Amino acid sequence: MLKQMARQPGISRLLAALGMLGLLAASVWSSPGYSQTEMTIGVLAFRGKQDALERWGPTAQYLSQSISDHSFKIVPLTLEGMLSRVEQDRLDFILTNTGNYVVLENAFGISRLATLKVRQFAADFTQFGAVIITRRGHPDLNQLEDIAGHSLMAVSEEAFGGFQMAWRELIDVGIDPFEDLQSLQFAGFPQDDIVHAVIAGEVDAGTVRSGTIERMAADGLIDIEQIRVLGSRDSKSFPFLHSTRLYPEWPFAKARKTSQELAQRVAIALLQMKPDSEAATLALSAGWTIALDYGPVHELFQELEIGPYAYLKKPELALVWREYKGWIIFSLAMVLVLVTLLVLIGRVNRRISQSELKYREEANQRKQAQELLASHKENLEVRVEERTAELAEVNTSLRRSEAALRAMHDITTDADRGFDDKLESLLSEGCRFFGMEFAMVTGATESGEGSICRVGSDAESSWQEPMRICERLRDEIKTLQQPVAIADFSAYSFQDGSRDLSGSAIGADYRVNDETAGFILYSSSNAVQRVFSDVDIDILQLMAQWLGGELERSEINLRAQEHQAHLAHVSRLNTMGEMATGIAHELNQPLTAILNYSSGSLRLLQKNGDDDTALKNAIENIGNDARRAAGIIKRLREFIKRSEHRPERFLLRDCIEPAVELLRPRLDQHQIDVDVSYAADVSDVLADRIQIEQVLVNLLLNSIDSLQHCAQASGKIMVRVDSGDKGDISIGVSDTGKGLAADVVDHLFDPFFTTKTEGMGMGLSISRSIIESHGGTIEYLVNEFQQPTFRFTLPTT
Ligand code: ADP
Repeated sequence: MLKQMARQPGISRLLAALGMLGLLAASVWSSPGYSQTEMTIGVLAFRGKQDALERWGPTAQYLSQSISDHSFKIVPLTLEGMLSRVEQDRLDFILTNTGNYVVLENAFGISRLATLKVRQFAADFTQFGAVIITRRGHPDLNQLEDIAGHSLMAVSEEAFGGFQMAWRELIDVGIDPFEDLQSLQFAGFPQDDIVHAVIAGEVDAGTVRSGTIERMAADGLIDIEQIRVLGSRDSKSFPFLHSTRLYPEWPFAKARKTSQELAQRVAIALLQMKPDSEAATLALSAGWTIALDYGPVHELFQELEIGPYAYLKKPELALVWREYKGWIIFSLAMVLVLVTLLVLIGRVNRRISQSELKYREEANQRKQAQELLASHKENLEVRVEERTAELAEVNTSLRRSEAALRAMHDITTDADRGFDDKLESLLSEGCRFFGMEFAMVTGATESGEGSICRVGSDAESSWQEPMRICERLRDEIKTLQQPVAIADFSAYSFQDGSRDLSGSAIGADYRVNDETAGFILYSSSNAVQRVFSDVDIDILQLMAQWLGGELERSEINLRAQEHQAHLAHVSRLNTMGEMATGIAHELNQPLTAILNYSSGSLRLLQKNGDDDTALKNAIENIGNDARRAAGIIKRLREFIKRSEHRPERFLLRDCIEPAVELLRPRLDQHQIDVDVSYAADVSDVLADRIQIEQVLVNLLLNSIDSLQHCAQASGKIMVRVDSGDKGDISIGVSDTGKGLAADVVDHLFDPFFTTKTEGMGMGLSISRSIIESHGGTIEYLVNEFQQPTFRFTLPTT
């Protein structure tokens, strides 16, 4: 082994040291009982898995043999597979192309142990480059710069030798292959296709790895004369055509986790690999050399801003994320926290300023409210004082008016006093209440002569002035048609404009039957020291109402008395007439008999020749007197009958109601109800109202008589007014009494027929005379309710 080391000058010292180290390690690892550990070598299989296994399998085998306590295994991988395995630390060693190595070195800290020595045409090369070609005879392309505006074909954008090397050189001459070319095509592997495409003129130019042209020519695939190299370079001890700078060949690298110690052992084994060994030959190499400097590759990537330096161009988000994930999350979290805090602070600030604003507003409002309240309070106090004064005044006036009202009530309800007395007291009370010296009640006449009553000071001579004031006031009341109160005549503007009097007055009209019947007036020749109020007017109107009411009542009473007197008079006349008829009827027979007897006596005297003149005269006188008596009775009857009739048109209602009212005391006394009903179509009648009322009174009296002797507690009388059959009107009076016995019925209407101890038996007989004299009929019947009924008819015309 030492001999071998000596045969390899240049690295002898290092190798000697490493060899010693290796031997030491081998002795340690080969100690009995130690089992083999499997090591994986990830290989970029750009020509497929099989190719990779065939090319690198012997190398693994070689390593397993060289480092006996470890076994090595080839794992063929694509670019992506390689990337992910390295990232996940699932490889121990890496065998990949130059460009990929630099990427992985940068990203995952793999480090090279040795560089491949490529053997071609029996020479060994540790570097390689790329060649940019065009077909010989291309009219435009003579140097690299001429490519602008032409088409270029390469392997792929990621191919280190197949594109990126050429890209760097193009950039150097000011051509961006992605911008400045007519077209840029990527044809992939094998690279031979690119050479063929260029020769065939399918593209203007192409780029392939150095050595490709020479190999193709040597294999007879092309004629090298067909090709022109653009930007050709000369490099020392590098015989192949090339247009680019040279870069180190494939490195053999260790993964980040792989121990330095094992890496050293592997490095030594690789360096010791014999150039002609199977492992080297199959790897198309002459073994391995000490790892070269891959700095130029870094420079290329930096210049092109690709691979590990892509961030220079456009930072790759995923990479940044991978690299600074923790920081980014932390920063974002901090930013989020900050933003949240800021938002919160902002919100709190806003709230504070809002509430401050609100507070200020509220304080303002409170201040205003307090001011308002204070002013209200002041106003209120003033108003309370005013109201209290007003109330006190009202109270006093109420007390006054209450006293006045009580006095008025006492005066008007005193049953022992007559109307005149009451009126005089009322006027005096009014004088006291209104503070007046004079009062008068006048009729409605202009002159005041209708004056009913006056009160004032005793000296009637002093009444003249107050009376004039009253008359003046009366005219004003007439004009205004409402009560008038004038505290000071000199300050009052009268409707007619006159101002001839001074003093004060209050007055109102009083009404009888809804018409002004006169005035009640108070006056004083001095102006009073107070303002008349509504209460004064109310009290005055109460007096006026009482006065009007009293006068109305007395008028009604007067009329009722007159009516009753008239009815009684007619009744008397009727009774007299009927009695006269009866008496005449009764006397006619004896008078006729007396006449017959006297004329018979005279005839007898003549026949017997008796000339007793005295007797004859006496008998003749008896006859004459009897005749005269019959004549008197006859004339009396005619006289009474002649005064009977005073027909007028009236509604039966106006006749029935007074008759019932006339008998009201007796009806009430015996608790008898009277039910009067009128058919809807009943018209008025043409008759003597008083006489018809008398008939009704007779019939009602008979019913009352019958009911008052009845056992039942209370009775009822029904008066029904209907339209009769013959265009006349029928009036039926029934009662709930026991009715008439059968033998009585036939004599009902006979004069002097009565079943009552104090009866005259004239009522029904007079009633029949009256009704018949009006052209009507009267009859007795039992109605549909089995009630005794007297029904009479009256003509309507
Ligand atoms: P007087 O009422 O004076 O008896 P009337 O001519 O008015 O005279 O009545 C004659 C009689 O008719 C009465 O005495 C009474 O017997 C009888 N009579 C009249 N109306 C009724 C009546 N409604 N119910 C019972 N009997 C009656």
